[in-house]
Amino acid sequence: MIPYGRQSVDDSDVEAVVAALRSDWLTTGPRVDAFEAELAAVAGAPCAAVSNGTAALHTAYAAARVGPGDEVVTTPMTFVATASTAAMLGATVVFADVEEDTANLDPAAASAATTARTRAITAVDYAGHPAEYDDLRKVADSAGAVLIADAAHAIGSAYRGRPVGSLADLTTFSFFPTKNLTTGEGGAVATADPALMARVRRFRTVGIERRELRYPDEGGWHQEVPEFGLNYRLPDVLCALGSSQLRRLAAFKARRAALSARYDELLAGVPGLRLPARRAWADPLRHLYPVRVLGGRRREVYDRLRAAGIGVQVNYIPAYWHPVFADLGYRRGMCPVAEAFYAEQLSLPLYADLTDAEQDRVVAELRRILS
Ligand SMILES: *Cc1c(COP(=O)(O)O)cnc(C)c1O
Repeated sequence: MIPYGRQSVDDSDVEAVVAALRSDWLTTGPRVDAFEAELAAVAGAPCAAVSNGTAALHTAYAAARVGPGDEVVTTPMTFVATASTAAMLGATVVFADVEEDTANLDPAAASAATTARTRAITAVDYAGHPAEYDDLRKVADSAGAVLIADAAHAIGSAYRGRPVGSLADLTTFSFFPTKNLTTGEGGAVATADPALMARVRRFRTVGIERRELRYPDEGGWHQEVPEFGLNYRLPDVLCALGSSQLRRLAAFKARRAALSARYDELLAGVPGLRLPARRAWADPLRHLYPVRVLGGRRREVYDRLRAAGIGVQVNYIPAYWHPVFADLGYRRGMCPVAEAFYAEQLSLPLYADLTDAEQDRVVAELRRILS
């Protein structure tokens, strides 16, 4: 089976992890600091490593003080964690529709969805293509809301020359194996705001505070918890893998770009197929290659490609279709552009180690089915 995505792990990655295992530190040692500093250079803002992308979102919302009575405006065209982590903090999630071409949160729809209760607006850089951050910034500022970027797909991408990570008040990353780089499980939160970063770091470490103490005379051992948090740390061993993978990020980007350009060329003019859009200002590190299968044939094409050993995927069912949101009263039809996108969407295999020959097989099977 050719999967839709997978990690690329080479000898340099293995050696980095082995070196960490032979060192004095397994968790929260010097490799965490090093990885965070290297990530910050890519993201354009200070970063805190966390245990996965879902934890990164939970941490970002907690740092933004999202809670009961608040509303969080976001896109339904995403992995459920973008919305569910806000709901778990007690907020009401308000889904706004997406742009027809990129499937990213539509700034006009986001604006229409804001109220006096809007605490955060969360965009997703779908497939690695950045959202319209300048417009979203205006929407967030006029609503008095925090702008959050779920950039699980988009580390290494840029918007109008600015890196993803430097565009929102808080940006979250995922280092799951299918993503642009991996630590097995892992993630990070980026923010240029020192107060937000202090809360991010505290939340990720069980809420423990060692500096600003209420009872400073307790003794040298003393630490205290002013606010609840969780253990969302990313261990040294995995940060070693992350640093090694970051050194390969430019090569990953080049290979994913070359494969995307090959798909663009080899699939041009195939009937019943629409290829992914790219806005002029976007410099994406392409996580997915999302085509649209027209004429109501998406399910058939999915089944036939899978049967042929090609592991295509669908990203994503609209988040509010999940039973947990349906049971809260969210109804189908609320974001028609996202639903129309979902009905046709199919992610073709895309990952750094995909060979040209494997890609040719994907193209040949797809052409055979659609012609
Ligand atoms: C993968 C992903 C997440 C969650 O990341 P994990 O590391 O799997 O927890 C969140 N949002 C989006 C858009 C994702 O693709």
